[in-house]
Amino acid sequence: MSDKAKTKDQLIAEVAELRETVRQLREEGIEGRRTVETTEKADADIYKNFFAHAAEGFFQSDRSGRLIMLNQALVDIFGYGSFTEMQQATFIIKDRLFKEPERYNELVQDLLRAGLVENFEALACRKNGEDFWVSINAQAVHDAEGLPVLFQGSIQDISHLKSVESRLLHGSFHDPLTGLVTRAMFLDLLDKTIARAKRREEFSFALLYLDIDRFRMINESLGQQGGDELLRELSKILIDSLRIEDTCARLGGDEFALILSDVFQVADALRVIERINVSLTNPFEIRGQEVFISLSTGIVMSGTDYSHPEDMLGDADSAMFRARNDLLCSFAVFNEAMQKEAIERLRVETDLRKALSRNELHLYYQPIISLRTGEIERFEALLRWERPGFGLVSPSVFIPLLEETGLIIPTGEWVLKEACRQARTWQEKFPAHKELMISVNVSAKQLGRPDLPSMVAQALEDSGITPSCLELEITESVVMEQPELTEDTLHQLKSLGLSLSIDDFGTGYSSLAYLHRLPADVLKIDKSFISGMKDEHKGVEIVRAIMAISHTLSKQVIAEGVETSWQLAQLIDLECEYVQGYFFSKPVTADEAEFLMAQGLKMYNIR
Ligand code: C2E
Ligand code: MG
Ligand code: MG
Repeated sequence: MSDKAKTKDQLIAEVAELRETVRQLREEGIEGRRTVETTEKADADIYKNFFAHAAEGFFQSDRSGRLIMLNQALVDIFGYGSFTEMQQATFIIKDRLFKEPERYNELVQDLLRAGLVENFEALACRKNGEDFWVSINAQAVHDAEGLPVLFQGSIQDISHLKSVESRLLHGSFHDPLTGLVTRAMFLDLLDKTIARAKRREEFSFALLYLDIDRFRMINESLGQQGGDELLRELSKILIDSLRIEDTCARLGGDEFALILSDVFQVADALRVIERINVSLTNPFEIRGQEVFISLSTGIVMSGTDYSHPEDMLGDADSAMFRARNDLLCSFAVFNEAMQKEAIERLRVETDLRKALSRNELHLYYQPIISLRTGEIERFEALLRWERPGFGLVSPSVFIPLLEETGLIIPTGEWVLKEACRQARTWQEKFPAHKELMISVNVSAKQLGRPDLPSMVAQALEDSGITPSCLELEITESVVMEQPELTEDTLHQLKSLGLSLSIDDFGTGYSSLAYLHRLPADVLKIDKSFISGMKDEHKGVEIVRAIMAISHTLSKQVIAEGVETSWQLAQLIDLECEYVQGYFFSKPVTADEAEFLMAQGLKMYNIR
């Protein structure tokens, strides 16, 4: 069998056998020395042959990366015409053969540290500029003093393996809609990148968490397919804004994440965000419609000691959350204060999870007074949390958390059932007011549940109150966020015979045409408009305009946040139907509300 026809494995076995012989001869002492020399020569000859004819690329370089020896296969792999051409063109390996010189430095450091590298993967560059993947096995050769003088080893073109691997992985690790990496795969890559940054001081990266602003609304208006198309188009923009060594994933829904390699400062990450934002100044053409979108981005720089990729991604998410709520800036960098806040949020969340079962949630009731009779005709049920060690916590703090964690579903159900039960008790206790109404706030998440109407029907049935005695309050901005879906649910709720009101009216930019279609009975003017009524002029005129709109649409009006007698007088003049506010009573406990009722429901004498 000629050497040329020998397989790599056979050659390696042969060399190993020869080495063993050499070792034995050395042990035999001086007598054997001559033989050793001869054998070492034979060893070198076999190496030479092996080197020249192997299908794998072999190289030998000095410590500075200067190519000393290389074989034909290596010349072929890199697409050069001859040894000399390649040797001249790639005087220093890292400059021409490595796509990322940084990666070459890592290779050298590993060789100096461990003396050996195995299956070191890197992006290489062919003569024609094409990128391809190689796997390197190499070792450092030391001189008599043990100092490294040479590097030698083999380089294999693994592009085909990479493409098979990526096709195999593609199925399970790629999002079928956008083709981007999925969350599971991303976490794996992030884990490796974190480890790489830990190993090497000179490597640094940024993790970005991106979220499309108001996506739910856009998705609703474009329809499912239009929304999908938008996500696909955005993925292309993200990919185009990145370098080959960066990673882009779709985490789910409208959330994306990026790993930007070799980014050392926030400013570098911002340049990428800027590039993406410039592309987003052009509208997307989706199903004949022009759509503009914006993104909120959270940034975390490597450097903080993360042990789990989930933690780093969670921090990027927290920063994104901050950016989303910032009107002036569309990005936020995760910092220590945010970390503290995130920990605090986690604490609140844990406590909140226990609150319902520990009976720490209570309903307070605020009277709503009819300006026709001057009497309390309804109560609004308002949730309070008696957090151990903290006292009463405001719903504006914990309702958003209940929403985010999904806990609003069981909590909202409890609120509804408890409020209906309480209303029934009062109706029975005060026969003069057997029509007393109860208003219950419904959150966005609840409204999105198809089982909401059946849950409400059940609460009505359990409590035994007449459906017309229940009013559900839905915030205007929530109604406007998902108009079609909401309209449908509102009609279903309305068909149960209850009353519907649009809460915080005036803050949600409703279109009049849409408002007209909604089966709402009542509009609750937001308290900011009432507190804005400080003098005869502007403040009152706005409320007058809102009243006019409401009455044109045949809706009754409740003015929220009435705090002064002057505001009350204005509202009476404007023919407002109901008022609610501290002027009459703050939200009170069920016992205090009962005390108010026992005194007679009249809160105010009509002039
Ligand atoms: P909202 O439904 O608009 O409730 C009215 C808020 O205005 C209440 O705040 C009430 O205490 C406050 N308020 C009433 N009169 C006055 C006044 O004269 N001056 C001032 N400055 N404020 C007044 P609260 O109880 O802190 O509730 C805040 C928000 O939390 C509510 O706004 C509602 O959106 C939400 N919320 C409360 N309970 C629930 C609940 O059970 N479920 C849901 N989904 N949301 C709830
Ligand atoms: Mg309300
Ligand atoms: Mg309100």
